Amino acid sequence: MKRVFNFNAGPSPMPIEVLEEMKNDLTDFRGTGMGITEISHRSPVFQDMLDETKAYLRQMMKLDDDYEIVFMQGGGTMQFLMTGCNFLHTRGAYADTGVWAHKARNTAAFFGETYDANTAKDRNYAYIPDTYDIRPDTNYLYICANNTIYGTEYKDFPKVDVPLICDMSSDILSREIDFNQFDMIWAGIQKNLGAAGAAFAVIRKGLLEKARTDIPEYLQYQTFVKNDSTYNTPPVFCIYTLNRMLHWIWNMGGLKAIEERNKVKAGLIYDTIDQSGGFYKGHADVKDRSMMNVTFNLATPELEKDFVEKAKKNDFIGVKGHRLVGGLRISLYNAVTPEAAKALADFMKEYKRTNG
Ligand code: PMP
Repeated sequence: MKRVFNFNAGPSPMPIEVLEEMKNDLTDFRGTGMGITEISHRSPVFQDMLDETKAYLRQMMKLDDDYEIVFMQGGGTMQFLMTGCNFLHTRGAYADTGVWAHKARNTAAFFGETYDANTAKDRNYAYIPDTYDIRPDTNYLYICANNTIYGTEYKDFPKVDVPLICDMSSDILSREIDFNQFDMIWAGIQKNLGAAGAAFAVIRKGLLEKARTDIPEYLQYQTFVKNDSTYNTPPVFCIYTLNRMLHWIWNMGGLKAIEERNKVKAGLIYDTIDQSGGFYKGHADVKDRSMMNVTFNLATPELEKDFVEKAKKNDFIGVKGHRLVGGLRISLYNAVTPEAAKALADFMKEYKRTNG
């Protein structure tokens, strides 16, 4: 079996040991004689798996009892819609740290007034602004914890007087933080925690009580809470992959251990950039650098194209940057191994030696 070094921005790799386990569960899940894609979402075996998944999340995120956890189809983009239509009564504030926060704002604008509480547009989103302009009657401040395209990530989160809603799609459970400082966290699972096709949300009961009810039932978070995420057929397979990834993180030693491992990986690539004498130029400000997505440029687009081609010949896949930043982007989500990061760092050094 050939496996490449996969640095895609999402969907992204899963640990080989989890994939091997999934092979067995595809034909016989927990002794039922049915595979995971074949079981009923109304069966006790599914309910047990769902309960277990929520328990893992509660335990690893050290959540207060005050939070509900729900699972939904529709990925991240559906959450842009649901956050707006549930919580936007008068106006919603958005921290403009790039494309994903901006898309959330534009989507929510359908339901009320939205505005940027700050913006990092002046330097192509290379930093996280640290001041917030919150207007009267604002229902929430919405932020994106890790900006997948630009490679910036909040180290500290805003302290504001309005409910704080956070998109953690591209850094969920990659590090230890105080998850209880948010009123709502949501994340698509396809980067750090499983297969594409689902998102989960952790929502404070106090915020849920304020949710709008003049919207279609299926768009209400309360519908998912009241029906324990099984109002209709949930994304069973996706939730299962999330369950297995949480089990894997737990066995790795939990968030503390995962954070240490992620730091080592990011350090290998950032050190290579910083010690390249300007051959590799990092996009994000050092203080706001993401541990998940490392973005950088070379001197010319031609050299960047050549780098991507040579990388591919050496089995390094998914290193091309997003078109809005250009250059290269190395995604180092939870399942990427330190060995893969080391191999790429060595390749970068060798590439510089022969092209610098
Ligand atoms: N938020 C962030 C931070 C993302 O990186 C992405 C996708 N890359 C999205 C939201 C959108 O997610 P989806 O493609 O699942 O709609």
